[in-house]
Amino acid sequence: MRLIFLGPPGSGKGTQAKLLAEKYGIPQVSTGDILRAAVRERTSLGKRAKGYMDQGELVPDPLVIALIEERLRVADCREGYILDGFPRTLAQAEALRDALEALNSRLDAVINVEVEQGELLRRLTGRRTCRACGAMFHTVFNPSKVAGKCDACGGELYQRSDDQEATIRERLKVYTEQTAPLAAFYNHGGLLLTIHGMGKIDTIFEEICRVLERRA
Ligand code: AMP
Repeated sequence: MRLIFLGPPGSGKGTQAKLLAEKYGIPQVSTGDILRAAVRERTSLGKRAKGYMDQGELVPDPLVIALIEERLRVADCREGYILDGFPRTLAQAEALRDALEALNSRLDAVINVEVEQGELLRRLTGRRTCRACGAMFHTVFNPSKVAGKCDACGGELYQRSDDQEATIRERLKVYTEQTAPLAAFYNHGGLLLTIHGMGKIDTIFEEICRVLERRA
């Protein structure tokens, strides 16, 4: 199973990608997570990416494309993967198409999670992330048991610099301008499955499983 999750920041695509990756026993490949780890570890990629990420801008295509090509060559991707946060531009989508062609491989589906803008802002401004393990909470919708502490590992919860309101608005603008057009690109290829991303996590997950099965 080779899938892409498309959807604006805050659409819940990372949560759904994780659930689906567990269901199929394949890796969830999140470029955001890989880049954040690179920033934390101060690698040369991390140093080049940090400024863009802090501003809510996209990291330049050549850096992200090289990163994903390397990641997809790792053995755990042989049986499939779920891409979460990649591609985000037409150039990235074209590079992925070419890389897959070279490997004689193809995508199975692109799941497009739609959520209206006001809801995205509400979700993103309340988001808190564990500094130690990356688990996510929400001050209103999914608070941790002890304020400021991760339920999973006890680590400190913080607000990602790119989850602050001005940066969120920029990320949503970047999404509309650069990433949303990919829905048409994949629809044209007959791969697009659109899901309404409002409601309970479990209900949305069931809907995703249903549309994937219907398609198979
Ligand atoms: P995410 O966690 O997916 O929201 O990604 C966080 C940030 O990482 C984004 O706002 C971008 O700065 C950067 N990023 C992640 N994936 C990509 C990508 N495919 N292309 C460019 N920048 C990316």
